Amino acid sequence: AVEEVDAEAAALAKKLAAYRGVWVFVEQTEGEAAKVSWELLGEGAKLARALDVPLSAIVIGEKVEHLCKEAFAYGASKAYLIDAPVFKYYRTEAYLRAVNNLIEKYKPEIILMGATGLGRDLAGAVATVVGTGLTADCTGLAIDDKRNLMQTRPAFGGNIMATIMCDKFRPQMSTVRPHVMAMPEHDPQGSGEIIRESCPVKEEEILVKVLDIISDKKTDQVDVAGAEFIVSGGRGMMGKENFAMLQELANELGGVVGASRSAVDAGWMPQERQVGQTGKTVRPKIYIACGISGAIQHLVGMQDSDVIIAINRDKEAPIFEVATYGIVGDLFQIIPAITRKLREL
Ligand code: FAD
Repeated sequence: AVEEVDAEAAALAKKLAAYRGVWVFVEQTEGEAAKVSWELLGEGAKLARALDVPLSAIVIGEKVEHLCKEAFAYGASKAYLIDAPVFKYYRTEAYLRAVNNLIEKYKPEIILMGATGLGRDLAGAVATVVGTGLTADCTGLAIDDKRNLMQTRPAFGGNIMATIMCDKFRPQMSTVRPHVMAMPEHDPQGSGEIIRESCPVKEEEILVKVLDIISDKKTDQVDVAGAEFIVSGGRGMMGKENFAMLQELANELGGVVGASRSAVDAGWMPQERQVGQTGKTVRPKIYIACGISGAIQHLVGMQDSDVIIAINRDKEAPIFEVATYGIVGDLFQIIPAITRKLREL
């Protein structure tokens, strides 16, 4: 029986060892890459170093070769390029077949994708077809002493952080939300090898046809996720009308107004402004939390901000545990006072 177990373990180790390299899927729309792809190259570089394997980019689209060069500037040493009209717009079936073909041929041990609408769709489809695991919405990635990827993400409504491992299948797949990982350095001199792959899909095989793309002009255009200065309000704001006070402060800073889920649920701010586990992940230079208690589901969305300033009348509020500067007091006095001071500068 011991021999059988040993033989099984050896067979598994052999199967896993056939997979090598860290891949990052470069998500693009009309030739423009999603920033999260570069953030993932930064993170992927650390994993590739720990494993002593190459870091590669997967670039799929129409007329997207320039993105391979960008990937080299952000640290990739190889780029697998599939460039064909059938990939002009994202369609699950076409992209799935392209990625699947690359995996079968080159056998990477890790694949990272952005936890965007597109990334979530594609990663789930790929993992299902390949027959491997997928950890969604990771906030931390590391390599253990057995070369497994340790994937950390909030679980049970954000009440615990779970570390998940896929130790019996390859590739190991994770999605990571935008802004969770820091942007790597951009080196315009960075170079690498482009591996051109032929297109494995014919247009007539794809059931979904894109007839037209209509942008939704009604959505809130303010980009909370990409803002450098955010003034966020929570239930402590007491009403929609009081958010004007936060907007005034945000204007002085050249920033935007965000919100906790309570404020969004109360109808005081639109959902696009929500920060946290079920909202946006943000990484601004300054995050000012006003009347926000600091529930874990809020913290996971903003705790990597460079500077956090918390204003709360309850000195025991958990927000103060992550705050760089804490102000205990009534926000209705403190916020206008800060805005006034900034105007004097
Ligand atoms: P509260 O917790 O009610 O805090 C209000 C704070 O305002 C208090 O600390 C109070 O002391 C302070 N205050 C009141 N009046 C004043 C005043 N005059 N001056 C100064 N301070 C004052 N939450 C999110 O934010 N984002 C998410 O993405 C998110 N996702 C979730 C996902 C799940 C699955 C679950 C279960 C919950 C999620 N939540 C999320 C909700 C989260 O658990 C909290 O309920 C929410 O963050 C609380 O919002 P709040 O801090 O605004 O309100």
